[in-house]
Amino acid sequence: MKLNRHYLAGILLTTTASLAQGVPAHQHGVATLQAVLSSTTLHIELRSPLMNLVGFEGHANTPEQRQALDSVRQRFTQDVIQSRQCQLQHTSIELPEQSHDHDHDEHTDLTVSWEFYCPAAGSVTLDSRLITTFPGIETLQLLWITDQQQGADTFDHDQPILLPRR
Ligand SMILES: [Zn+2]
Repeated sequence: MKLNRHYLAGILLTTTASLAQGVPAHQHGVATLQAVLSSTTLHIELRSPLMNLVGFEGHANTPEQRQALDSVRQRFTQDVIQSRQCQLQHTSIELPEQSHDHDHDEHTDLTVSWEFYCPAAGSVTLDSRLITTFPGIETLQLLWITDQQQGADTFDHDQPILLPRR
């Protein structure tokens, strides 16, 4: 099924836009997780203010700050998100250069993507340890889409996430 990528991306943008109305794009303490399960591919993307993960934003100026960034990269390549039904294919961590808002404050977001291969039909369960691993994430906002359904949820502690599918 080839049509789905654009179709799903459209739904995801719509859902994200409606959610975004109530939520500032960059809010300390809040991170967003998007999960799209299409056929055998599960794509997950986490977006979080860097503050939630290392306690600072902008450039890493000290050896301690650079070490904190390295340690965050390592933790994301370990098992902060797993699924019993799926095999991890790829993880990518994107740390953009610092950005400035109109107040000239420095804010930085970190984006992490995971791609899983899910060979079996049926629902998929995600086990997330994001909040346990990064206590700076106080609220995790989830958007999920499968071939048949979509939904949104908000978590303040780690719990299994069900992506329902017939
Ligand atoms: Zn910030």
